Amino acid sequence: MTTIKLYNTRTRKKEEFVPLDPDNVRMYVCGPTVYDRAHLGNARPVVVFDVLYRLLRQVYGSDHVTYVRNFTDVDDKINARAAETDRQIGDITAETTQWFLDDMGKLGALEPDHMPRATQYIDQMIEMIETLIEKGHAYAAEGHVLFAVDSWKEGYGKLSGRSVDDMIAGARVEVAPYKKNPMDFVLWKPSTADLPGWDSPWGRGRPGWHIECSAMAYELLGESFDIHGGGNDLMFPHHENEIAQSRCAHPEGHFANVWLHNEMLQVEGKKMSKSLGNFFTVHDLLEQGVPGEVIRFVFLSTHYRKPMDWTAEKAVSAEAKLFGFVELIAMYGDLEIARSLAPERAIIDALADDLNTHAALECLSKMNDADSANRLARNIEFLGLYSWSQLERKVSAYRDAKTILRSLEKKLSTLREVALSTKDFSEVDAMKSALQIANVSVRMNKSGISLSPEMGFDPAKLEPLL
Ligand SMILES: [Zn+2]
Repeated sequence: MTTIKLYNTRTRKKEEFVPLDPDNVRMYVCGPTVYDRAHLGNARPVVVFDVLYRLLRQVYGSDHVTYVRNFTDVDDKINARAAETDRQIGDITAETTQWFLDDMGKLGALEPDHMPRATQYIDQMIEMIETLIEKGHAYAAEGHVLFAVDSWKEGYGKLSGRSVDDMIAGARVEVAPYKKNPMDFVLWKPSTADLPGWDSPWGRGRPGWHIECSAMAYELLGESFDIHGGGNDLMFPHHENEIAQSRCAHPEGHFANVWLHNEMLQVEGKKMSKSLGNFFTVHDLLEQGVPGEVIRFVFLSTHYRKPMDWTAEKAVSAEAKLFGFVELIAMYGDLEIARSLAPERAIIDALADDLNTHAALECLSKMNDADSANRLARNIEFLGLYSWSQLERKVSAYRDAKTILRSLEKKLSTLREVALSTKDFSEVDAMKSALQIANVSVRMNKSGISLSPEMGFDPAKLEPLL
């Protein structure tokens, strides 16, 4: 069996991954708060953990991996959006959830096995908060319930490498009067009549953000599970708080064994921000004609623990690579045979080495001769760049184009023969430029004419020539 090694934030070491139960490898990843389109940075963890999910399924079997990613559908940002737009909260969250799934699907991300919504787990959250109060780790004050970090000083801050005392010293925030310690965080807070709320032992209210992940992970994966993932911006306070809640409510377990954090995304070397004008969503890029597989390819070209710099140049070069892959497969491959192959050992090994996706893409680039076409197709599918049905469409579109181009080769060569005798090349030149506009390369020499589709090939533009 393949040995997977992962860099564990908790131990700060690259370690051999040993699942608690190889028959059910369990992974939890923090999902989006659903009030707006996902920006490009939001998509990075989705692609990173999708690659890990695919690897785990390959190594342990697709029925032996449970992947949970939540939707945060109760949050003050959602409430604010509803108030601004005068829309129902449920409409906003349902619409944004679907947008997220559609956009991430276009990036080749498989849907997790469970996609729990926070609002469906309010009872479990209340139950966990009650347990924390009973065990002396939380207290109610002025309609709020707070987690008492002093009650778990030995564990709080371990993941992010901070001590409670340092955190207090560094805290410059205005501290709510009902907090015993400035670092105490909200488990439950009161809701006014115009805000979403649920009845609880502490009055009508709503959960704080962190408790949902603890409650849903416990419900769906148990008190101990294998992998917890997310962007490194979530490490503190979100993940630290998740650990505190879960470990204190269920001291019999240890919550997540391995913590994986992906680095952030930049755009053309700068932090993505609305004020710099370089902020865009996945949907924006797709609308601009950047295919989802190109976005995925660019993401995979950088290791997940390094900052990912999105550049227009990388997108163009990724598109050219993908076009070359499809061309090779269309010319020499057979997808029936490709489907029966196993993913390449070298690619599995690259991913098993702390998700070295860059090395995996290098392996693809080496499959560049006729004999490699089927292996190339198999591994493209394994890495999620194209699904089988996408590959089928791409390959048959390429082959159809070649058929059309063959008849155009004949037409162009007839025109050329006529032109050679009349010395009037205007029709030949007109056809050549029309072909170039459709992104067809034209090679003419004494032995004949050859036309090939190039990146950006548009068969619709050939119609006037037929
Ligand atoms: Zn979370």
